[in-house]
Amino acid sequence: MEQLQNEIKKRRTFAIISHPDAGKTTLTEKLLLYGGAIHLAGSIKSRKAQRHAVSDWMEIEKQRGISVTSSVLQFDYAGCRINILDTPGHQDFSEDTYRTLMAVDSAVMVIDAAKGIETQTKKLFKVCKQRNIPIFTFVNKLDRFGKAPLDLMTEIENVLGIRAYPMNWPIGIDGQYHGVYDRRKKHIELFAADDSHGQKERASVVFSMNDKDAIAQIDNDVYQTLLGDIDLLDTAGEEWNDEKISHGELTPMFFGSAMTNFGVQNFLEEYLRLAPQPQPHESTEGIVMPDDEKFSAFVFKIQANMNPAHHDRLAFIRICSGKFERNMQVFHIQENKIIKLSQPQQFLAQDRQIIDDAYPGDIVGLFDPGIFGIGDTICDTKNKFKFADFPVFPPERFARVEAKDTMKRKQFIKGITQLTQEGAVQLFEQPGTGMESYIVGTVGQLQFEVLEYRLKNEYNVDIVITMQPFEVARWLEFNDGKEVVPESLRGADRGMFVYDMKNRPVLLLNNEWSLGWISDNNPDIVLHNVPPDK
Ligand code: GDP
Repeated sequence: MEQLQNEIKKRRTFAIISHPDAGKTTLTEKLLLYGGAIHLAGSIKSRKAQRHAVSDWMEIEKQRGISVTSSVLQFDYAGCRINILDTPGHQDFSEDTYRTLMAVDSAVMVIDAAKGIETQTKKLFKVCKQRNIPIFTFVNKLDRFGKAPLDLMTEIENVLGIRAYPMNWPIGIDGQYHGVYDRRKKHIELFAADDSHGQKERASVVFSMNDKDAIAQIDNDVYQTLLGDIDLLDTAGEEWNDEKISHGELTPMFFGSAMTNFGVQNFLEEYLRLAPQPQPHESTEGIVMPDDEKFSAFVFKIQANMNPAHHDRLAFIRICSGKFERNMQVFHIQENKIIKLSQPQQFLAQDRQIIDDAYPGDIVGLFDPGIFGIGDTICDTKNKFKFADFPVFPPERFARVEAKDTMKRKQFIKGITQLTQEGAVQLFEQPGTGMESYIVGTVGQLQFEVLEYRLKNEYNVDIVITMQPFEVARWLEFNDGKEVVPESLRGADRGMFVYDMKNRPVLLLNNEWSLGWISDNNPDIVLHNVPPDK
């Protein structure tokens, strides 16, 4: 028990969220640099041309310069075991990101100092807010011209509706900040020139506000401005409140530059001090505490073919309670079966290693022969509970997808079904079309491109994608439980009648107006925007 509690106390599991280009990848890389997990940061100059940050692993990510999948990175720093879940910044992958956010205990929001709060940050922030997890803010790119720190604080408060508590404050003038004032330690940290282009840790000197000789090195105007700002924050700023921070109502805010390594170490250390250790989870049998000796975990991500050399599939689990041991037997609730967990893996980007044990907060990749689904619970054989369901996102774009070469149909079906199980897309069958073609539903356009790319690269199948004019999907049920078939629906021909992979009837419609018509003309039918039962 004591060992379990010690392991839990050490762990910090979080995601970094941001709008594309705010600096999430660079910051992740720098945290690894300071954590000693890598020795030279990649100095990502042009993300389009040479983007090989450690947390990207799929070919498509390198080619397009975006993060498609959520990677998991683990490293140790100052007695903590850190699990960072990288989330894709592109809006079309928001569903994957939402799932990742189900598996973390806190989030770091990276903001570009010049751009402030951008659209994708807003969306991701909303999901964190729904889960009431603590959110820490890192204002990045302070080496360049940007908005004034006070304006950024106000923007966070106005746009996101959350109060900010600056942990440190930049010293210098806009575009030339060269240090930070640490409000807790009441000291100043001045940074030496960055002569390694951000590849190495940056040297700095630290001195207290009482050290007159050291203070004398700072330009007097800069110093007077700093004193004014500190006074303003102390008198008019938000008060420190642990309770509000733990519920995501107050965000500790840090200033720095991931690229030139300024303020990064300070951020990392304070963050690790304040960020929550693995938290309890709700289940059908009540709250599950992390130090409950009985093991439990849930699947939050499934990914096939991470290593093209082995056509394997991994289910990523987040451990919620107890100790995980290699070859342990667990109960898989959704399949109602006892299974053995062999070949568990952990990650540092491309390097994976087989692990023997893991603790609450850790992410483990399990070899998946096709049995797991997103949101599934596995737990000690003596327990039989289920964790709360994952939110399902209604698809908004639809296309007919078929194999270009009919001889490749078997491969096509295998590939598309596997990618559906990963949760990359949703699959529907139109009665009468057999398995010649499928209707694929996604949340965003880019998912079709990923589908096309992955089917070609991983299954060697070229596909033809024909976009369909629908924007709305509704799962159909009669009030009295009778079977819904096209004939029982007035106006079924106004849309497309299809079945999902669990054989539930679904109607695809052009727009909300058609939906209104169907709803008005079929009073006995209940329309659900997500599958009615899971
Ligand atoms: P992501 O899309 O949020 O992962 O952003 P990246 O980490 O890939 O960064 C986007 C671009 O901003 C890259 O060209 C980085 O080199 C650059 N960048 C990241 N951090 C900083 C910073 O602190 N200062 C400056 N000037 N550029 C930065």
